[in-house]
Amino acid sequence: MSDFKSIFSTPLEVEAAAPGRVNLLGEHTDYNDGFVLPTAIPQQTIVQLGYSADQAFHFYSHELKEQVDWQPSGTTPAEFARYLVGCIRSLEETGISVPPLNVFVASDVPIGSGLSSSAALEVAMLRGLRSLLNLKLNDVQIAQLGQQAEIHYAGVQCGIMDQMASSLADPVHMLFLDTRSLDRQILDLPENSEILVIDSGIPRTLAGSGYNQRRAECEAAAKQLGVKALRDISDPATVESLPEPLRRRARHVVTENNRVLEAKQGVSADRFGELMNASHASLRDDYEVSVPGLDQLVAILQQTPGVFGARLTGAGFGGACVALVQPGQAETIAHQTLEKYQQQGFQGKILVPESDRSIR
Ligand code: ADP
Ligand code: MG
Repeated sequence: MSDFKSIFSTPLEVEAAAPGRVNLLGEHTDYNDGFVLPTAIPQQTIVQLGYSADQAFHFYSHELKEQVDWQPSGTTPAEFARYLVGCIRSLEETGISVPPLNVFVASDVPIGSGLSSSAALEVAMLRGLRSLLNLKLNDVQIAQLGQQAEIHYAGVQCGIMDQMASSLADPVHMLFLDTRSLDRQILDLPENSEILVIDSGIPRTLAGSGYNQRRAECEAAAKQLGVKALRDISDPATVESLPEPLRRRARHVVTENNRVLEAKQGVSADRFGELMNASHASLRDDYEVSVPGLDQLVAILQQTPGVFGARLTGAGFGGACVALVQPGQAETIAHQTLEKYQQQGFQGKILVPESDRSIR
């Protein structure tokens, strides 16, 4: 495997890492100022930094086997280096100057599967810069800078959940986050449980347009109800006066926020699983962001002994499912599930837990 020293001839100065994340509850709530409950996954992105021997930045990705050279006087480069340049530019906008660097990236976070390899990359890069340049940045500021990088330099209109989870959560805790106030709590995962994430193998082709349409519907629903955001409504009965489809869209957001608030109180794995199952039904029937393959995968999981609950995770229209299962059972359950899923004509893949760790 390559590392900093096999790519660059200058000394390695610092190494930093940050994990990917999976959202356990609270889907499509973040752009409604609502509540989310992600946890970090064991897979991480590692960034190694050293000073450049010239006036340019040099970025290398082990996964892409690709190097991008960037003159800081030039425009933002394409592809993966945008995320790194975005971190540098976002820091510079706060008055910090960043000297030309050699940057090596390696990761075992699945890329583009909804486990937030982009936030892991940003948070690892910013952690590396914090330690190299001795910056007084706290973990929330790191998350905010990462979000700025992703919005303004990678061109992705993301909320703050991914970067906050990567910066503040770890794989044995979940992060309760109020996306309006940024109030947060680090909570234990439900007792005696383990997390399983399976990629449905269904590409998220309609995710972009569907996401924008749902955002617009939520804004329209909030406006008609006379509130700043749907987060300001806690009684699901309030949305019943809305015309369809706004009524169902708003009902998902209101009930989903309530599910996160209940889980935050500390519930058993059984109850947490029920909340996940209810979340999936709501995403499927009210929010209409599921697709038949995801529904089939979730149904197989929900019918498997040892599974407390399962739901689609991420924006939907494809992508991954998350399940809460009995400890030590994740791999067995995953293999049983994938076999049945394959019999229905689909090809899924286990993302968490990862049996073959390629880095560290
Ligand atoms: P997700 O965050 O769900 O994995 P995104 O589309 O938001 O998916 O981010 C994926 C992008 O992030 C990649 O296309 C790439 O540009 C960048 N990226 C993430 N991890 C790496 C990596 N290890 N090496 C290079 N680029 C990466
Ligand atoms: Mg991302």
